[in-house]
Amino acid sequence: MRNSLGPINRKNILGLKIDVDTYIGMKQGVPRLLSILSQFGLQATFYLSMGPDASGRAILQLIKNPRFLKKMLRTNAGRLYGIKTALYGTLLPSPMIALSFPGLVEQIISAGHEVEFHAWDHRRWQDELSKRSKEWIEDWFEKGIQAYRRLVGNEPSSFGAPSWVIDDRVLEIVRQYSFQYLSCTRAKEPFIHEISGLMEIPSNLPCFEEIGVNRGVSTILQILKDGGTHILPVHAEAEGGIWDKYFIELCEGVRRTDFEILPLSKIQALLKSEPLPVRKYRLELLPGRSAPCAV
Ligand SMILES: [Zn+2]
Repeated sequence: MRNSLGPINRKNILGLKIDVDTYIGMKQGVPRLLSILSQFGLQATFYLSMGPDASGRAILQLIKNPRFLKKMLRTNAGRLYGIKTALYGTLLPSPMIALSFPGLVEQIISAGHEVEFHAWDHRRWQDELSKRSKEWIEDWFEKGIQAYRRLVGNEPSSFGAPSWVIDDRVLEIVRQYSFQYLSCTRAKEPFIHEISGLMEIPSNLPCFEEIGVNRGVSTILQILKDGGTHILPVHAEAEGGIWDKYFIELCEGVRRTDFEILPLSKIQALLKSEPLPVRKYRLELLPGRSAPCAV
């Protein structure tokens, strides 16, 4: 079965969707990724978490969700995130993520990359969305978008939901903003969200976290061999941290192919001319993940 985003005759295009979920990912991962991307002359789309880093609250998930513990052990989460990150929001106060680094946000933009909206409080969305009220979600967006405006100076074109978790209320609320497209799912193909009417550009490739770094590079390059349009999900904490050498290896591998690397807004512009299916997302537990994602 083919595994690319859409028709076989679509050009060979790869988008890099870089999510920044934590304070340490912003502070250390982003500069590292900026340097790697510049070394390869690549442009990416950064989805930034604006507000509090409450990563430490994940400790509650360790108790509630055995799959989460397994994932943390498999990915060596202690080394991946560091001890301080493991305490934010519990024993240590939550530092602000992008809001703490306005200079870095400017650097991302001046290097030619795109900045889009990922989260206000990533951890709470990921763990608590289904239990929260519509007012809570509206407040979450309002705080996050105001922070984005303050940092970037205009409106975000896109929203990428934390951990690819959404619900119907979210797709209603996004209509209040000027998003041009969403990147909220792990679907195989782009589509139009039935509820919001917005284009979805999904992260269809697996990430290192899910397949493991040892097989990660070869698995991703193997999928690219079939051609087509693909989006690779990248995490600043991981590929900009202890897994940077694997990310470099992947960039080297991609350079040897005929894939063109484009930021997501350019991919959206290309997809606009195609008739995309209109449908509802559904939730599915993907291999290597601890909780269901929208697909
Ligand atoms: Zn994220």
